[in-house]
Amino acid sequence: MLDGSLRKIDYMRISVTDRCNLRCAYCMPAEGVAPVSHSDILTFDEIVRVCGAAASCGIEHIRITGGEPLVRKGIPDLIKSIASVPGIRTVSVTTNGIWLESYAEDLYRAGVRHFNISLDTMDPVLYRQITRGGELSRVIGGIDAVRALPGTTVKTDTVLLGIREQKLYDVAEFAASRDIYPRYIEMMPIGCGKEWLKAAELSYTAEDVRKMLAERYGEPVRSGDSPGHGPASYWKYPGFGGLIGFIPAVSCRFCGNCNRVRLTSQGLLKACLQYESGTDFRRLIRTGADDDELKISFAEAVRRKSGMHSFGSSDIPDEEWRNMSQIGG
Ligand code: SAM
Ligand code: SF4
Repeated sequence: MLDGSLRKIDYMRISVTDRCNLRCAYCMPAEGVAPVSHSDILTFDEIVRVCGAAASCGIEHIRITGGEPLVRKGIPDLIKSIASVPGIRTVSVTTNGIWLESYAEDLYRAGVRHFNISLDTMDPVLYRQITRGGELSRVIGGIDAVRALPGTTVKTDTVLLGIREQKLYDVAEFAASRDIYPRYIEMMPIGCGKEWLKAAELSYTAEDVRKMLAERYGEPVRSGDSPGHGPASYWKYPGFGGLIGFIPAVSCRFCGNCNRVRLTSQGLLKACLQYESGTDFRRLIRTGADDDELKISFAEAVRRKSGMHSFGSSDIPDEEWRNMSQIGG
């Protein structure tokens, strides 16, 4: 359906848990986030009901995220149920990849073909520092496991950390060696990301990185092909095997093309990433709303979706206080 700014909204990200097996310094505090009790997060049946309402309002693509989605038990079963909701065409997964190798076949059997895997550096020591303990080799094992399955698309997501040691070329070179799509994403001033950005040594935009890569791979041209449903633009460099994606989440407002809403693990439907408020689907479901009522509430939330974010403004009403791990990215 169209929102109040006449944008087609057909994509929903679902965070299935706030928990994570890593503690990326720009995403989560070292001690983790306050644990949410099981009874406060949506059950699988409740998530599937929200997906039913979403699909009847035109949502076709679902992405499962977190926290780390693979830490919640039974995710392949949830994905199977969502994939069978009439109107849902794809269910994809965003993961840090740490447990992906052992989940790859189950996720594939559940119908997942598109995997986004966070990969901020190819340096195992820096990876361990940023993630506070993660083993890079496990992520690579996860990527290789899903690439070995026929018909899968893998994108890596590299957040621009503003530190020289990140060596952004290395992720592109790794992606080329595996025939996958590297993407570079500007860090957003949300949660721990705000503090990280204040302390960062370098400050560059996605556009700066696009130009930087041109020094090595030659002048790129914008590609008309897009391997996803999101805001990334993809570029073909003459000296690079595949496409490279850029997500200028802060420097360039792509809100005009925004196609998405987000459901938190506690059932808050957020129409825009930046604002705290949303529609409480957990309350609606647990106070007896029927499917028609859920559909009406979903449509209303989409209609009221904000026209644009205001990152960079000094005075933001209703500003989001959650960390990205509690929103799902
Ligand atoms: N745990 C999974 C993962 O890391 O892929 C899924 C959830 S994580 C919150 C989703 C994405 O959000 C990751 O790619 C992560 O790097 C990104 N992210 C976290 N904080 C961010 C921030 N402040 N700005 C931009 N991206 C951020
Ligand atoms: Fe966990 Fe993903 Fe946040 Fe890292 S980015 S702490 S892996 S939720």
